[in-house]
Amino acid sequence: MAQRIQGTEDLVGGYMRAWQHMQDVARELFGAYGFDQIETPAIEQVDTFVHGIGASTDVVRKEMFRVFSGALMERILAAGGEGGLKARQRMALRPEGTAGVVRAAVEGNFVPQGAAPAKLWYAEAMFRGERPQRGRLRQFHQIGVEVLGAPDAAVDAECVIMLMEFYRRLGFDATKLQLRVNSMGDASCRTRYRERVRTFILAHRDEMCDDCLERADINPLRAFDCKNERCHEVMRDAPLVTDNLCDDCEAHYAQVKAYLDEAGLAYVEDPTLVRGLDYYTRTVFEVDALASGVGAIGGGGRYDGLMELEGGKPTPGIGFAVGFERIALALAAQGGTLETPAPGCVYVACAAPEQRQAVFSATLALRQAGVRTEADYQGRSLKSQFKQADRLRASVCVVIGADEVATASVTVRDMRTHEQLLVPAAEFVGRVRALLG
Ligand code: AMP
Repeated sequence: MAQRIQGTEDLVGGYMRAWQHMQDVARELFGAYGFDQIETPAIEQVDTFVHGIGASTDVVRKEMFRVFSGALMERILAAGGEGGLKARQRMALRPEGTAGVVRAAVEGNFVPQGAAPAKLWYAEAMFRGERPQRGRLRQFHQIGVEVLGAPDAAVDAECVIMLMEFYRRLGFDATKLQLRVNSMGDASCRTRYRERVRTFILAHRDEMCDDCLERADINPLRAFDCKNERCHEVMRDAPLVTDNLCDDCEAHYAQVKAYLDEAGLAYVEDPTLVRGLDYYTRTVFEVDALASGVGAIGGGGRYDGLMELEGGKPTPGIGFAVGFERIALALAAQGGTLETPAPGCVYVACAAPEQRQAVFSATLALRQAGVRTEADYQGRSLKSQFKQADRLRASVCVVIGADEVATASVTVRDMRTHEQLLVPAAEFVGRVRALLG
């Protein structure tokens, strides 16, 4: 039997409706904040991610799925490597959404001089070659937003407020969510800080794991996230970024917190919060669903240098992304669900084969009027058609037999009250729609 790839899922039935519901909530809420939807290609040049996410991150070094056509693969094998490939031939499946949106914004000049900020949201599949486990997939779905062109701390605060409102509208109990915030500084103070952390790790080299020693040179801040308990202990005494911010970054961070306080939002300041991707500057934030066992259900931050890294003019940016599958798990752990009930329908029942034609036209008329309609295609008995109608959660049945055809009418049966009525064929669509409310 054919099997799906480990770490991937089929979205179907209630699970698919849950994903659609999440997108509907996003469309309405983000729309109110002035965001338009964007969809970028699932494949981009490797360089788009390397420039944006950072060559030293796990996502780029180990988890990015590379894409080769069969013909290209043959060329690479014949040449003994991909060294001769042009940048545009080196492709990858997107592991996250921001780099692609920023690439699109640079290419399409979404933020011309003097223009208002570009506000975009997306709902897309992401691909990461991770070891599959609960809440960690190789193909998963994210909803995210990006604001390009606004350095103001109010935008940082509004993004966080909108994110927390999103969780509330999805049905989360806000008291069981923890919002953590931090500032990672900008190009100047961050570089100094990284160096201090590197020195700290090297001074504690005997106590730390090999991974962290490797991180010390390529991406020292990642040592804060090491899963190794001992490293975690040691890093508790490491210099904190919040003690190393320049005056401008400190003022920006203070302003963001003042806005969050003003909005009455509960948050925890976590000076060890350093998000995994290289592009973050200043504000970063992450949300955990407490006691859900799935880890972070969303996070984001400011990336004021990213547009330049992707070849654009210096343009500040900020965004966040949330993971659909983890949110579904975390909500279930709180006793909630993203699933909406399966839609009901109208069932057109056929008493005998002679009425098939009349059933066919009635079904067509209902569908053209936008009514979700089902009928029998397997020659079932009338009794078994009614059972089928129940299984399909039909709230109204239209029954057509010899008498109905002879009198140019149909029987309309309200399945909730069991009342039925003979209605002239010319009027039955209106009657059905009235019953459906
Ligand atoms: P990140 O881009 O890593 O900050 O991820 C943002 C959100 O996407 C996380 O908070 C998770 O909810 C979700 N996410 C990230 N990686 C995975 C994965 N491998 N499988 C499922 N969800 C993920």
